[in-house]
Amino acid sequence: MSQAKSTDYLVVGAGVAGLRAAIELADHGEVLVVTKEALGESNTHYAQGGIAVALSGKEDIALHLKDTEDAGDGLVYRPAAEVLVNEGPLRVEELLAWGTRFDRSPGEPGELLLAREAAHSLPRILHANGDATGAEISRSLLVLARQHPRVQFADWTMVSNLVVEDGRVVAGDLFERESTGRNLLTRVRARGVLIASGGAGQVYSDTTNPAVATGDGIALACKAGAELADMEFYQFHPTALSLPGVPRFLLSEALRGEGAYLRNSRGERFMEQYSSQLELAPRDVVARAIAREGMGEDGRSLPVYLDMRHVGIDLAKRFPGISRFLGSHGLNLQHDLIPVRPAAHYLMGGVRTDLGGRTTVSGLYAAGEAACTGVHGANRLASNSLLEGLVFGARAARAMLGDGLAFEPVDEMEREVDSGDEQAIEDVVTELRQMMWGHAGLLRDTSLLDAGVAKCGEYTERIEALAGDDRGERALFEARSLLNVSRAILVSGLGRLESRGAHFRNDYPKRDDVGFRKHSVYSQGRVRFEVWE
Ligand SMILES: Cc1cc2nc3c(=O)[nH]c(=O)nc-3n(C[C@H](O)[C@H](O)[C@H](O)COP(=O)(O)OP(=O)(O)OC[C@H]3O[C@@H](n4cnc5c(N)ncnc54)[C@H](O)[C@@H]3O)c2cc1C
Repeated sequence: MSQAKSTDYLVVGAGVAGLRAAIELADHGEVLVVTKEALGESNTHYAQGGIAVALSGKEDIALHLKDTEDAGDGLVYRPAAEVLVNEGPLRVEELLAWGTRFDRSPGEPGELLLAREAAHSLPRILHANGDATGAEISRSLLVLARQHPRVQFADWTMVSNLVVEDGRVVAGDLFERESTGRNLLTRVRARGVLIASGGAGQVYSDTTNPAVATGDGIALACKAGAELADMEFYQFHPTALSLPGVPRFLLSEALRGEGAYLRNSRGERFMEQYSSQLELAPRDVVARAIAREGMGEDGRSLPVYLDMRHVGIDLAKRFPGISRFLGSHGLNLQHDLIPVRPAAHYLMGGVRTDLGGRTTVSGLYAAGEAACTGVHGANRLASNSLLEGLVFGARAARAMLGDGLAFEPVDEMEREVDSGDEQAIEDVVTELRQMMWGHAGLLRDTSLLDAGVAKCGEYTERIEALAGDDRGERALFEARSLLNVSRAILVSGLGRLESRGAHFRNDYPKRDDVGFRKHSVYSQGRVRFEVWE
């Protein structure tokens, strides 16, 4: 890690949002981008299907807005969605100019290929290397950011605390375990701090997200006094691979876009019982349908399958990454039924921001999956999140530059901290993740959510008893993040006495527009509901 003790702009995270922001900021000041593991290890890197963008003019843009609003189930904050669809084409054209290689038809230079995904009214998904879109976007942004003399990176380093002075965030504490085994905390002062730390899929035992997605930035912002919003809305992707002992590898929406069927344990297609859009219904509808079909009468789980055997294209060519992964587990997309089940995938909620990424705390900004502008409402439209990272990452940077943030660099000392029984912490975290799957998963109710809040209290006591006086290590910091994000999901879910989008309550199975066409706002352990106009 760099030894810098101050920088102009501290960016927490090197996914699409953090990198896009860093590129914008670096023309105007020093930027330090911190990432918890290797550069490139992020949700962005694993994004498969593509990036949604309306490139063919006004009509397409209007339809993209409509699709986004329809998927969001009455809760999309329209000004944010307008920004997304209107600025999206500019941001994507910029990416093309920076060398991002999206798939094209044969010939020179070839037309950009557009795929269709669930709940999109027409094909508008750009993809790269078939099913490795996020890795290509990440690669091209990293090349550009690395070339900039004013961007520094600190990898294998985690921001473990935000420092608030006089109501303003002025610094972040960076934790690093050195190769010697020493645990070091370094305070880095900055004009402004951007939370671009991505989602929190690790809150759940079943998730498509990588290990870094523990919601740290959301928890840190909340502790610093920032409001969170829409935390009850966690999107469960319907089709993660379901093989014992194998990670919940994502089987992209694009497979259903190419015509894949869903079949239950009796081999029957079942989506017509749940939606006229069949397999291309919004994710929450498909995920709940799979959960129901996968539940036997005696409570035993039954297999549900994705079936592409009838699709007449070369699937290994169109989906090389997915085909390779399945092949390594003895499955063939073209010839086999693929067992699937839902997994936690994307957090619609996050740190509440305005359209410039400003949180409710001065000096603190957020963008990407960690932020909540209200752009996704209660359910994100497929492939809108890479676009969100680009559009709102750039906007947050511009707001940081425009806000004229004052700065007093002060040299801070590094400090050593102890590590302790990581295994004991991991054990509590495993219990927490299983509890969240059962209590705040696809189907919720008051008693489940209530019991979940009580369990969070119990886990917090156990974690703090393990923490001691001067302990600091990744496992401990992450456990605190997971607990705080879990509590926000449970409390927000308890408050929303209706079913909408990704939040489904068995005890309130209907949508209630009179009572709850509102965004939840979570602060200091409590939730309130607000109309955003
Ligand atoms: C398997 C999978 C497939 C997906 N497919 C698609 C798709 O096809 N299209 C689409 O639009 N979206 C897709 N998504 C969602 C999309 O990838 C993410 O929502 C988006 O990339 C988030 O970008 P981000 O920049 O906000 O965060 P991320 O890309 O998650 O980056 C977060 C960064 O923050 C860092 N970080 C986290 N905590 C800390 C800390 N405490 N200190 C320092 N650094 C920290 C991480 O190391 C990482 O660098 C997919 C997601 C997954 C998991």
